[in-house]
Amino acid sequence: MSKEKKQLSLIERWELDIESYKNGATQILTCTPQCEKCRYFIKGNALHCEIYDNDNKPKYVLFPSKECPRYESIELIEVEINNQYDSKMFGGLFGFCVGDALGVPVEFSTRDERKIDPIKEMRAYGTYHQPFGTWSDDTSLILCLIESINDDYSIQRVADNFVKYYKHGYLTPYCDIFDIGNSTRDAIDRMIRGVNPVECGGKTEQDNGNGSLMRVLTLAYYANDMLPIKRIEIVEEVSSLTHSHKRSKFACIFYIEFVINLLHVDKKDEAYKKTIEFVKKYCTESYYEEIDNYRRILDGTITSYNEE
Ligand SMILES: [Mg+2]
Repeated sequence: MSKEKKQLSLIERWELDIESYKNGATQILTCTPQCEKCRYFIKGNALHCEIYDNDNKPKYVLFPSKECPRYESIELIEVEINNQYDSKMFGGLFGFCVGDALGVPVEFSTRDERKIDPIKEMRAYGTYHQPFGTWSDDTSLILCLIESINDDYSIQRVADNFVKYYKHGYLTPYCDIFDIGNSTRDAIDRMIRGVNPVECGGKTEQDNGNGSLMRVLTLAYYANDMLPIKRIEIVEEVSSLTHSHKRSKFACIFYIEFVINLLHVDKKDEAYKKTIEFVKKYCTESYYEEIDNYRRILDGTITSYNEE
């Protein structure tokens, strides 16, 4: 008669884990002690923490961080938010990074697939077989731009960071590039060969894509106070590193202006209207050949179209 192996409940496994942990954690069954990654952890003593009283720490919070309502990663980034502007700026930047990481495992899936199986939390594996929370080239390149701005912006500095990203996986989660757009790769290859950074982006219609749009967000916060003409120039300059066709540049200008307007007004409709006014005033002449391609956005009717 074969003896059936008893399946332990989670509670039982935690009990065993706690015992093992006390004895030097040789046989942890659930997972590595997450408490050690929590900011409230008391070093050398995972059975207690700063948040719970010594006696009251529920046993179940020791290992799986997800189950602990007080868990806060030791790697949390702290930012100072003093006003609504800060709140909107950090909201924009963190929202961007989180959205990017949420999307990585399902990149290239269809809208129908996502309707059946919507993304509600971080996932791993998927399209690129990456761990939870892995961000893509979008975030890496935006981080390159942020760093260049913090180091006293120059277009050469941005280009140098892009090269570091491409060669060494700089500002990627694991120093490794698992995806890069073709136009972006070609442009960075030109940077490496010594071409003037603003001459590196592809100029033909076929070179268009969202590759510069996806990484310029930071410019809204950097150029917010600049005069309109200067602001447009800087957006064009940063786009031209990888995407130099007017269609790509115009998309970036519109996007940045929309974000800037969102910083100053609370209603999306109002920000949208102001953005249309802005580009009509400042871009009609220089972008006349692109205006028609953006007709649905510029005549204010984009929200009335169906999804498909
Ligand atoms: Mg990407």
